[in-house]
Amino acid sequence: MTDTTTVTATPQQEAPALLQLRHVSKIYGDLHAVDDVSLDVPRGQWLSLVGSSGSGKTTLMNIIGCMDTPSEGSVLLDGRELGRLNAAQLTDIRKNVIGLVFQQFHLVPHLSAVENVMVAQYYHSMTDEKEALAALDNVGLAERAHHLPSQLSGGEQQRVCIARALINHPEIVLADEPTGNLDEANEQLVLDIFHRLHEQGTTLIVVTHDAHVASCGERQVLLNHGRLVGERLNDGHHGPRSHDMLDFSDAQPTQVRA
Ligand code: ADP
Ligand code: MG
Repeated sequence: MTDTTTVTATPQQEAPALLQLRHVSKIYGDLHAVDDVSLDVPRGQWLSLVGSSGSGKTTLMNIIGCMDTPSEGSVLLDGRELGRLNAAQLTDIRKNVIGLVFQQFHLVPHLSAVENVMVAQYYHSMTDEKEALAALDNVGLAERAHHLPSQLSGGEQQRVCIARALINHPEIVLADEPTGNLDEANEQLVLDIFHRLHEQGTTLIVVTHDAHVASCGERQVLLNHGRLVGERLNDGHHGPRSHDMLDFSDAQPTQVRA
């Protein structure tokens, strides 16, 4: 029997990046809060986003997290252009694909830790206290599940926030200065959680001012006045614990691929 099927040899293609930003800008009047940013983030990468205050980090994170839309350019998530999705599809991405961690923890003050985690579940319409308790256990807070935010330390509140962000097993975790309000010991607890997520294949984008936190990622990109002005790959060496300005003097100019 002769096989008449023509087999076309296709070259091995690199998987497209999970997140692709193409010439993204956010413009307020004369101000370009984000200015022509093009960036690929491969699946599973831990990316540190650094830059001084006002450089556009939060604006960019809000755009990536489907909380805001760019004035210009496009964002592709898993090959889907966010600007072409309808409200229901965007809601689905916010619920199921993205986990958000903030510097100000945004916990509901009159709800206990486990109830705060269940609020996130409620949005996913499957409130399950056992699962919420397991999520708290996962961040070392099983004993604190029934405390109110006001009865928790800053580090504990941040871990509740992380448990809430992780409840639906998001593919991407976006953390905006997650250790900005924490002491060193609590910073390390949060970094340990991020290391674990990274090992499990979660894509992490972490905004930080802290050289040590930035050095925990595989790659750092630097924003300045809304523009991506540098990037470097970390060599596995974790930088010194320091809240000094990050030194990007050895960084390569960012290659715009789009
Ligand atoms: P970062 O997080 O790096 O500190 P932001 O993204 O918060 O920076 O802000 C970047 C710039 O955009 C700042 O100059 C800020 O004042 C401005 N900006 C942010 N949001 C708005 C807004 N809604 N309206 C006008 N300007 C804004
Ligand atoms: Mg910010």
